[in-house]
Amino acid sequence: MTRRLQVMKFGGTSVGNAECIARAAKIVAQSAREGRCVAVVSAMSGVTNRLIEAARMAEAGNRSGALASIEEVRAQHESALNALLEDESERAGVRARLEAVLAEGSRFCEGTALLRELSLRTMDAISSLGERLSAPLVSAAVKELGLRSEALEATELIVTDEYHGGAEPQMEQTRARSQARILPLLNGGSIPVVTGFLGATPEGELTTLGRGGSDYSATILGAALDADEVIIWTDVEGVLTADPRLVTEAQTIPEISYREAAELAYFGAKVLHPKTLRPVVQAGIPVWIRNSFAPEKPGTKITPQGQSIGGGVKALTAIRDVTLISVGGPGIVGLPDVVGRTFSTTAEVRANVLLISQSSSQNDICFGVSSSDASKTVDALRKEFAQDLAHHKVEHIRVDPHIAIVAVVGQNMCGTPGIAGKTFNAMGKAGVNLIAIAQGSSETNISFVIEEQSVVPALRSLHREFALHKSAHRIPNAQGVLD
Ligand code: ADP
Ligand code: ASP
Ligand code: MG
Repeated sequence: MTRRLQVMKFGGTSVGNAECIARAAKIVAQSAREGRCVAVVSAMSGVTNRLIEAARMAEAGNRSGALASIEEVRAQHESALNALLEDESERAGVRARLEAVLAEGSRFCEGTALLRELSLRTMDAISSLGERLSAPLVSAAVKELGLRSEALEATELIVTDEYHGGAEPQMEQTRARSQARILPLLNGGSIPVVTGFLGATPEGELTTLGRGGSDYSATILGAALDADEVIIWTDVEGVLTADPRLVTEAQTIPEISYREAAELAYFGAKVLHPKTLRPVVQAGIPVWIRNSFAPEKPGTKITPQGQSIGGGVKALTAIRDVTLISVGGPGIVGLPDVVGRTFSTTAEVRANVLLISQSSSQNDICFGVSSSDASKTVDALRKEFAQDLAHHKVEHIRVDPHIAIVAVVGQNMCGTPGIAGKTFNAMGKAGVNLIAIAQGSSETNISFVIEEQSVVPALRSLHREFALHKSAHRIPNAQGVLD
């Protein structure tokens, strides 16, 4: 019989310094003693942001600024390395590996500064250096506990398309490569520590999976290796009823369904990358969210069905930094293809459309995109509708940047009477103005658009209205209804 396999991912704060890395290594070692374990690691906290900053400085021609940032990254890893390993000759081996990665980083920045040009491909190469630095450190910390371990770069394992900055995995090839490379290591008693966040095209060109993408790396590898479970170790005790930074009474939810968790992630709950659950849906692999700072706590289990709370509200979330774009004017009534052209344009630039609303007079189509996608979307729409704008068939392409989307999430919620009423009642109590509403056909969420500054009062009022501070502990009766 094969021994159970856990793929465990450690986020940036869970490998944020030597102490955290040592704690992560202990968790890995414990899992490897009980079964088989593959670790996936993020960059140390703050590193990816610093690298992106370095790339931007280089693009602006600020070579010395960019190289100084790389130096700071070196210092952060050097101090963790010195604190983690006792033996200087062991340190020297790891240091050589880190230096090789850092030298690549400096060269990328120098080239960028020289050309004052930063392609998405180069941005991927620079922004992923953090994972390539943290994996050897975590692997070394595991070895320090007397176990065998090898740091692997996911360019060898995760095969993706060539969409730099948000690549998609090609699962068949990923499966073949991951099994060929990782299973022999596991069978030989060694613990693979894999870089999160990155992959490579079939030709070997490095790509990244998007910000926060190490969660996705973990489930991609979990599915590719037929893991028994995936555990995402982070800095909170699981999926909470709301972002605890915004709602202090938020509670940990013991069990939640794939659908609910995906909906929360899609609507901005940072605890999970929006695509995290996709790879595991087919095989039904459970995903745990747990706190690496309190490993004795059970965390949240994400399962195909979740634990029913009888169609009630499970959690709230919000996406800030949304831009509302509207395409319209009286002239669009006679232009039947405006909707089609609008959304083929958003698809072409791969803008993530978060919510769509069309007024019944057909004067206006409005939709929300992440603010980071806004300028490329508007440019592309202006190009697409240039003729129509010139001839006043389309009167305007309007942009409203300070918007947020709030989502109320729970399985089968929309079939439960009164939830929409309670939701909007809570907004009325908090004095929050609703700009647009989208319940859609999804049974799992009600989402609406408000001004960004109203997010916190909106969430707090909703949390109170649905008594979510108690809900995590309530059990439905035989009819699935909560008291
Ligand atoms: P990591 O670095 O481990 O990937 P992230 O910062 O990406 O961690 O995600 C964890 C953070 O997500 C938490 O610190 C918390 O502030 C935030 N968060 C937002 N919404 C939720 C939620 N519903 N439940 C738990 N955490 C949430
Ligand atoms: N280090 C990457 C980021 O900060 C990926 C991750 O942490 O998941 O976006
Ligand atoms: Mg994250």
